[in-house]
Amino acid sequence: MKNQEVELASLSLQEKAEQLSLISKYKSEFLANMSHELRTPLNSLLILSKILSENKDSNLNPEQVKFATTVYSAGCDLLALINEILDLSKVEAGKMPIDLKKVEVAEVQSNAEQTFRPVAKHKGISFTIETDENVPQSFYTDSVRLHQILKNLLSNAFKFTEKGSVTLHLKSASHEKKFGIETLDQSKCVLAFSVQDTGIGIPLDKQRLVFEAFQQADGTTSRKYGGTGLGLTISREIARLLGGVIDVVSMPGEGSTFTLYLPEKYSGVGA
Ligand code: ADP
Repeated sequence: MKNQEVELASLSLQEKAEQLSLISKYKSEFLANMSHELRTPLNSLLILSKILSENKDSNLNPEQVKFATTVYSAGCDLLALINEILDLSKVEAGKMPIDLKKVEVAEVQSNAEQTFRPVAKHKGISFTIETDENVPQSFYTDSVRLHQILKNLLSNAFKFTEKGSVTLHLKSASHEKKFGIETLDQSKCVLAFSVQDTGIGIPLDKQRLVFEAFQQADGTTSRKYGGTGLGLTISREIARLLGGVIDVVSMPGEGSTFTLYLPEKYSGVGA
């Protein structure tokens, strides 16, 4: 009798879990389709407001040009937000394609250099890219997704740092380090991409929260820094898809270090 009861309970639990995962799948699919549909009209709005703001025929007064510029820049913000929601729903629905191929370490360095040197100059912050000697020259991952994660971590580092430095440090993780993640623990070599800043830091009790969707360390309406709170959630999910993980060490007022760990050679889900 007891066995039968347990069996019945576990069956109904299983059914509930299946229902839940179906609902979550529908939600993600809806979001993915919706975000896609929103982008089409938004793109024409962006193109036209950009043309208006350039005022090539000189038939708009300065105030009208300012309005057109505002429409354009607000539209760009909206597009960035829609893209983030689209990305998040794609990962959640298990529909983010991963394209694994050989990536050169030099390519990672030059990409970061090109994108963030101007930002560093503009903010008057020093920016260094360091690579340890024992880092393999190339590895296997999805380079577009890797750059997406690094871009997010570096943008955050620059956003939350007013003075001092931002460093991207590429190293091999120590063999002793255990992650509790099969793809990393079984990898011959684990690459670590550390983004270190001397910015505002994150209090210990917020360090888990910031990886949740729409969550920011400062969630008040009077907060100083803009953003959606989606970047780290997307980055964490993409890292998982690449067989890796992101961790953070931070001290309020002193700075933060976000580290992305990736296996040297990842050959797909469950590998
Ligand atoms: P967003 O930057 O759009 O708010 P993220 O998901 O990228 O979204 O980051 C979530 C929150 O984590 C940020 O709002 C901020 O509170 C905190 N955070 C992320 N990176 C840093 C950093 N380098 N220094 C301080 N706080 C950070």
